[in-house]
Amino acid sequence: MRLKVLGAYGASDAEHNLTGYLIDDWLAVDAGTLTSKLSLAQQSRIQAVYITHTHADHTRDLPHLILNRYSQNSPPLTLLASKEVMQLLSETMFNGVVWPDFSALTAPTTGKPAVQYRSLVPGKKFMFGDVGLTAVPVDHQIPACGVIVEMNGQTITFTGDTGPTSEIWKRTNKASNVVAVITEASFPNDQQTLADDSAHLSPQTFGDELKKIAIDAPVYASHRKIPFERDIESQIRNLRDRRARVLLEKNYTL
Ligand SMILES: [Zn+2]
Ligand SMILES: [Zn+2]
Repeated sequence: MRLKVLGAYGASDAEHNLTGYLIDDWLAVDAGTLTSKLSLAQQSRIQAVYITHTHADHTRDLPHLILNRYSQNSPPLTLLASKEVMQLLSETMFNGVVWPDFSALTAPTTGKPAVQYRSLVPGKKFMFGDVGLTAVPVDHQIPACGVIVEMNGQTITFTGDTGPTSEIWKRTNKASNVVAVITEASFPNDQQTLADDSAHLSPQTFGDELKKIAIDAPVYASHRKIPFERDIESQIRNLRDRRARVLLEKNYTL
């Protein structure tokens, strides 16, 4: 599969972007960065977006994507999230105050809703065409579910934001042909207390998570906070685990 990393940071400036990934040009995971890095034609090819949790650095571009597609001749976008996260998206974002409830609006050119919501039951595989998506709860400040994506005989795991966790590793260890794990390391080791208090990882706790992962595939640290990106990178390297890498904003072929 092709993984386009549109945003690999937990913050943004002129050269760093909020969390957003695109698989094979049509399946997005998180939406901090989508519209800001994709042409309208690329946006219209997205069929589904999975949202790990409602923090704004993971959802910023989502309403803009829906709105852009609404104005084009694009089929409805499928919005995927765990039941609890979908509920929070409805209450906090698509609530008629911040943004409209787009599922209730019919696009003028297609006569269909701009978006359809699909709530996933955590732990239960949901099939979107040939692609399996399993939402798995992780440990963050608010309800959050990572996702295990099975596509064309390959598996990729995205934790989204998380502190130390376990269920998603158990499931990843049982999955077949895992080609990559995308997790996080937000703060450097000297800010471990902040990482713990905000339910994020540092390179040190990222290293502890690595020990729970039994498979031999690259494990990427995303969501670095910009001022500390070099420190985090060298601390990840110092773990001396050949699977451990930092995630870069580029295209990966897995
Ligand atoms: Zn975040
Ligand atoms: Zn978060």
